[in-house]
Amino acid sequence: MSTDVIAKLKQMAADPARVWQVGGATYGDLLAETGRLANALVSLGLRKGDRLLLQVEKCEAMLSLYFACLRTGVIFLPVNPGYTVAETEHFLRDAEPALSVTDPGRVAGLQALGSKVIDLPALLALAKGQGADFADPATGPDDLAAILYTSGTTGRSKGVMLTRENLASNAEALVGLWRFTDRDVLLHALPVFHTHGLFVATNCVLYSGARMIFQRAFQPAAVLAALPQATVMMGVPTFYTRLLSDPGLTREATGHLRLFISGSAPLSPATHAEWQARTGHAILERYGMTETNMITSNPYDGARRAGTVGMPLPGVEVRIAGADGEVLPQGEAGSIEVRGPNVFKGYWRLPENTAEEFRDGWFVTGDMGALDAQGYLSILGRAKDLVISGGLNVYPAEVEAALDDLPGVAASAVIGVAHPDFGEAVVACLVPGPGAVLSEDAIRTALRDRLAAFKLPKRVLILDDLPRNAMGKVQKAELRRIYQKLFAAI
Ligand code: AMP
Repeated sequence: MSTDVIAKLKQMAADPARVWQVGGATYGDLLAETGRLANALVSLGLRKGDRLLLQVEKCEAMLSLYFACLRTGVIFLPVNPGYTVAETEHFLRDAEPALSVTDPGRVAGLQALGSKVIDLPALLALAKGQGADFADPATGPDDLAAILYTSGTTGRSKGVMLTRENLASNAEALVGLWRFTDRDVLLHALPVFHTHGLFVATNCVLYSGARMIFQRAFQPAAVLAALPQATVMMGVPTFYTRLLSDPGLTREATGHLRLFISGSAPLSPATHAEWQARTGHAILERYGMTETNMITSNPYDGARRAGTVGMPLPGVEVRIAGADGEVLPQGEAGSIEVRGPNVFKGYWRLPENTAEEFRDGWFVTGDMGALDAQGYLSILGRAKDLVISGGLNVYPAEVEAALDDLPGVAASAVIGVAHPDFGEAVVACLVPGPGAVLSEDAIRTALRDRLAAFKLPKRVLILDDLPRNAMGKVQKAELRRIYQKLFAAI
């Protein structure tokens, strides 16, 4: 069994000099703040097992509230502040939080939906008047720590129930794998409503007693200014592509860092290579999802292979399965399935959906992938993004890697669009780099040497931008919706 998050917080706070936030709170301050907040939550009537919905712009207090919920046994439910009141209604109806904590501007909207709401400044003011001592109720490793809703690009957004052991076991595995120590300083510019910024980043810092530089948003200039104080940065691929387009990104600017980590969306091999050429650092790519926490990581010491997400974390098992759940031979593409202490407890109030996504105790991630002879996993895309053209499987990731390699291509997304002859046709959406002019014919010609004919895009669309979510993930369902009639007239 792993050390619980709160036990770890108390352990770290025992050293009064230990700093949590660079230029800010110590771990002792953080523990005291979580005690005051926990007392405030109890005074508002919250009890173990209740849900607390938090929907605010990124700020330091979000992390204090996350820990305060863990101390009280209240289930933490952070929601993207980008969602409208109407979009948030689903979470309120589904999770029935005992309390919603929001920015002042959002109170009236959530109250109108019948939720008990307090704005964050009011909660912090209430906490200020409370004592820092708090008698934590007994909790167990299987108790729920948080519910995070899936981004729900297709269908209804589902509440992912994560236990204390899910978080603790993953934190311990990552700290060991990525060699976090109390000498580290993590640059934190990720959102805190998502597993990446909330659990991966925050818990790696906590479990090693490290410090963090907490930035309220990702701004390349602010990140570049802070890098000389940091030893580790975690980011989504768009952080890396945006930093690469800043001339301030140099070998000197990144010289103090020991590690750059990327995840939550595919990092193109082209970006990996460009980053290495500019900074001398090989970005370490890892793979995970809300339901499973982190699953695989490239090695710290061994080769960090661009275009792969590395090997399973210690204690985590990965298999590649065929349509009937049979384990496929090494090298074959199939469904990525996961088992281990990292895997969630199920979808909130959706036992049937939960049962559907598990096969013989293995969680079916919905991603397609293959393992190579050295055990590195490559992700070939979401199963629902697989294109079946003329009866043949085309894995978007393979075509995207070939496109990203072409000069002048800044980003690509490959989708399947209904086609009268082929069932589905491969369509490539491309964004040109600064100053580059791309032509559909030239791209198709250039791909002919690299890809079999059935994988070649039937159309190449040159776009200003790709639709992305808050984590920088390309919204392929949205692209499919926009271009669904592309071949209708043929
Ligand atoms: P989320 O639950 O929002 O974190 O989304 C999880 C999904 O993001 C996974 O199922 C993958 O499809 C994708 N993902 C996460 N990390 C990577 C990665 N390193 N490469 C490719 N896809 C990734």
